[in-house]
Amino acid sequence: MIEVCPVCGNSDLYYEVGGYAGKVYHCKECGYMGAFVVEGNEEMVEKIREKYTREKEKGKE
Ligand SMILES: [Zn+2]
Repeated sequence: MIEVCPVCGNSDLYYEVGGYAGKVYHCKECGYMGAFVVEGNEEMVEKIREKYTREKEKGKE
């Protein structure tokens, strides 16, 4: 199982301990900040990444 960003599927996360939420993850790829991350296998991560890439492409038009 790997921990990835729920928005873009990036596994390059870092987190800060402390503050009101206890633990806050930051995603270097999309700038996501939050206490929630997705734990999944390669297949799940691939799906999140695909979806994110599609949404991003859509946003350009
Ligand atoms: Zn992200």
